Parts: sequence; C-alpha cells; structure tokens
Amino acid sequence: MRIGIGYDVHRLVEGRPLILGGVNIPWSKGLLGHSDADVLVHAVMDALLGAAGLGDIGKHFPDNDQSYKGISSLILLGKVFDILSQEGYGIVNIDSVIIAQRPKMLPHIPQMIENISSVLKLDKQCINIKATTTEGLGFTGREEGIAAQAAALIDRIKK
Ligand code: MG
Repeated sequence: MRIGIGYDVHRLVEGRPLILGGVNIPWSKGLLGHSDADVLVHAVMDALLGAAGLGDIGKHFPDNDQSYKGISSLILLGKVFDILSQEGYGIVNIDSVIIAQRPKMLPHIPQMIENISSVLKLDKQCINIKATTTEGLGFTGREEGIAAQAAALIDRIKK
C-alpha cells in the first residue's frame, strides 16, 4: 500500500462560481483559477498522484494548456483515475478537509462525496470530506481564499 498527500489553495474573488467537490455552492464569491478552481478536487488529485509516485497535477495538466481552461476538475479527476488504473493501482480510501471561514460546507458534503465517488468508482464509505474554519485567522479566516488538504491510500489491484 502507498499513501499520498495533497494540498491546494485558490483565491476567492467576485464574479466566479464557487465549486467544491464538483458542487456549485451559491455564494457571493468564487475561486479563481485556470480550471474551475475546485480546490478540494485538486488536493484529492495530488494525493492520488503522490501516492502513485507520479508527480502532481501541474505536471499532468499544465495551467498554460488552453484545453484545461474552465474545465470541470471532476473531468481531470477522471483522468487521474485512468492514469492510476493504467499503472495498476486501485484506491483504498481518501480523507480530506476543506479550510474555509464561510460558507457552511456541511450541507454540501454528501453531494461532494457522491460526485467524487462516481468519478473514482469508489464506495462512498471510502471517501471522507471534512470542513473547518481557521477561527478568523490567516488568509482563509479573512476569506481571501480557500484551502484543502487530502490524503489517499492506494494499493496494487489484485490480478
Ligand atoms: Mg489548484
């Protein structure tokens, strides 16, 4: 078995949708980025690629590549799943945390799990998503951005 971690941050700005775990969350600001800036899915992808020893999302999906502009990160997550499958890896479980002062994430977490579960063909019980504030401290506390961390465990698929 192999473990990987992922960490990502995106800036919160006006005039962008807030998409986390593939859920479009109604909010006055959204995350800025080349893709849909889904910081949670980006952290999950980096955890999976890290577990497989395959670098990071910047290596696989460069942000100067126009084909990834505005793309749903769930599509990129599907590509990461394909890469891991080709390498002979299956996913054991994923744990993650969204670090944001606002809005409340709890009502949206079941749909985030649903989305990630369907892309990764992984049981919902094997995907955990938590959320925390930073008690008003730092860039997340000032609502300048949202961060996410993830850990993933993978294993060789038995043949
Ligand atoms: Mg990112």
